[in-house]
Amino acid sequence: MKFDLNNLVRENIKKLVPYSSARSEYKGTEGIFLDANENSFCPNVSQKEIIGTALNRYPDPMQFSLKEEISKIKFIPAKNIFLGNGSDEAIDILYRAFCEPGKDNTLICPPTYGMYEVSANINNVEVIKVSLIAETFQLDTDAILKSITQNTKLIFICCPNNPTGNGVKWLAIKQILDNFNGIVVIDEAYIDFAGYRSLIPELANYPNMVILQTFSKAWGLAGLRLGMAFASEEIIEIFNKIKPPYNINAVSQKLVIDILNNSVQVSSSVIEIISERKRLSEALSKLKFVLKVYPSEANFLLVKTTNANNVYAYLIKNKIIVRKRNTIILCDDCLRITIGTKKENEILLNILKEYKT
Ligand SMILES: *Cc1c(COP(=O)(O)O)cnc(C)c1O
Repeated sequence: MKFDLNNLVRENIKKLVPYSSARSEYKGTEGIFLDANENSFCPNVSQKEIIGTALNRYPDPMQFSLKEEISKIKFIPAKNIFLGNGSDEAIDILYRAFCEPGKDNTLICPPTYGMYEVSANINNVEVIKVSLIAETFQLDTDAILKSITQNTKLIFICCPNNPTGNGVKWLAIKQILDNFNGIVVIDEAYIDFAGYRSLIPELANYPNMVILQTFSKAWGLAGLRLGMAFASEEIIEIFNKIKPPYNINAVSQKLVIDILNNSVQVSSSVIEIISERKRLSEALSKLKFVLKVYPSEANFLLVKTTNANNVYAYLIKNKIIVRKRNTIILCDDCLRITIGTKKENEILLNILKEYKT
């Protein structure tokens, strides 16, 4: 068996004639544009001054300028980049491109990010689950390779993993890439907080790999909804066929281009979050009702307590909201706590110190 993208793509997608937008045929920026039924009058002039771009025109459907900027910081050509309305759009498109509803399946490794399963369910795609190894939260490679069926099209690996926070060993990922002929999706939503590098350079060696990243975490732009997928040009072309023509709005495109031209701020907040992660982890470990703080390569900590429901309710009473993860596999009595600002973390710690078991 060998990786063959053509065999993997759903028949209806292979045959699909994509929507051709007016702007994807004429590439110029100069001219009198009477092709898209826009309002040529640009009635909301004040908005143009605030945002710095007119909104009466449809945005660039291929986000060319924005991809050029992303290309520079990710060291990968623009043709290998897909942009979505959050990574969640890329996850959905993966199912729609490769999984025949009611027939194909995906393999995920719980505890992990919830959207892989929800998106599979929306698309009527069966989910095979192979749990991570308890406590280390590493991949159970043998079990994964044994559980794959002829209809397994996608394997999702979250690295660093949400909600456990750990990185996944490259050797295990490599073993899966080498022994699986479907698509291996590596979700690097938290890579900027990790002590190791992105797998983007490995894309050249693995045509069956898709890497997801996002502007929602390290870049602090969750409200904007901008996710990235990196893959071979062939895979990106399939994504582009499926996506809604104008999936990234003009405001997002303009704003992120500006931010990428001034990226110093982002790295300073990442450095601070990493140092707060260490401080918070050490301080939480000293609390009597904290049984374990798992090592984290992300901007959150998974914390095992003596009673997650009680600690959660106590924090809510004090208007501090954390994420209960105690009902998911391997996470008994665990809470997931996002690293906040120094001040927020200080308040959290002070309130937790007052907690009575
Ligand atoms: C937060 C998160 C994302 C980001 O999703 P967006 O839709 O880009 O906001 C993706 N994957 C994981 C594992 C996450 O935790």
